[in-house]
Amino acid sequence: MSAALIDGKAIAATIRGEIRDSVQDLEAHHGRVPGLATVLVGQRKDSETYVRMKKRACAEVGIASFGHELPEDVSQDELLAVVAGLNADPEVHGILVQLPLPDHIDDEAVLAAISLEKDVDGFHPLNIGRLSMKRREPLFVPCTPKGCIELLDRSGIEIAGRNAVVLGRSNIVGLPVAMLLLHRNATLTVCHSRTADLPAMVRQADILVAAVGRPEMVKGDWIKPGAAVIDVGVNAVDDASDPRGYRLVGDVDFEAARAVAGHITPVPGGVGPMTIAMLLQNTLAGFKRSLGAA
Ligand code: NDP
Repeated sequence: MSAALIDGKAIAATIRGEIRDSVQDLEAHHGRVPGLATVLVGQRKDSETYVRMKKRACAEVGIASFGHELPEDVSQDELLAVVAGLNADPEVHGILVQLPLPDHIDDEAVLAAISLEKDVDGFHPLNIGRLSMKRREPLFVPCTPKGCIELLDRSGIEIAGRNAVVLGRSNIVGLPVAMLLLHRNATLTVCHSRTADLPAMVRQADILVAAVGRPEMVKGDWIKPGAAVIDVGVNAVDDASDPRGYRLVGDVDFEAARAVAGHITPVPGGVGPMTIAMLLQNTLAGFKRSLGAA
């Protein structure tokens, strides 16, 4: 039997449609639209691509975007001044500082300077702190972890009471997704590079979230029959048959896992499209909150 595919591309498209409708509705009632500010430091090609994709996604749903491009050698104070200006700008409801920042910038200080109400990436220490505490609500949840939960929810996969295993404990994916699963009453195991007998841990998982960045590390016979598999990993592997010379694979051996799992996300087309959809959703939420506060 083959697992049901969790089609992140289609689910993200549905969510973008919902956001577009909501933005139109709010504009009709309030004469204003949500605004997302992006701050890009330097000229990293991957960061430029991500920022461009985010701006394009905003345009598609009617969210205004404000791009700030700063030189690689911008000082910490200059960058903090840009963030302060955006914090004060009433047209801006979300601020996204594209990571990674150059080495001479203290990224923790920059993330902490973003207004809590505009922290659409969810990386402000207070939002992360609230996420890590029982019965505390962060204003925003980081986008990729939030996208993982949304995929489970929209696929009708029960979380409460199930064994969830998260592979990876990064600040960006592993830890926040683990916290979200715990908040939703999963019984949680977090694995990392020092975990003994990873296959045995993974075999306990009714829900597996893989976020390690190791191509096809999780084998088919590690998967519990019927499990839901959310593969966050994006890894380029050499492939002479592909015109680009490489192809993208996840952290899970997709074909082998698909034969055992109940549900599985593909790579690409699983978690990836959800990240930007969640950023748009967070920006919309920030806008709605600002209307309530006005
Ligand atoms: P990091 O490198 O920051 O973290 C990797 C984690 O995996 C660490 O906790 C590490 O353990 C653990 N790990 C590494 N090797 C092993 C191993 N052999 N066995 C068990 N655990 C291991 O990565 P990120 O969290 O930033 O990203 C993970 C993957 O997700 C990457 O492929 C990345 O490209 C992808 N990604 C995808 C996104 C999307 O939108 N689809 C967004 C963000 C990331 P330890 O802590 O012990 O070092």
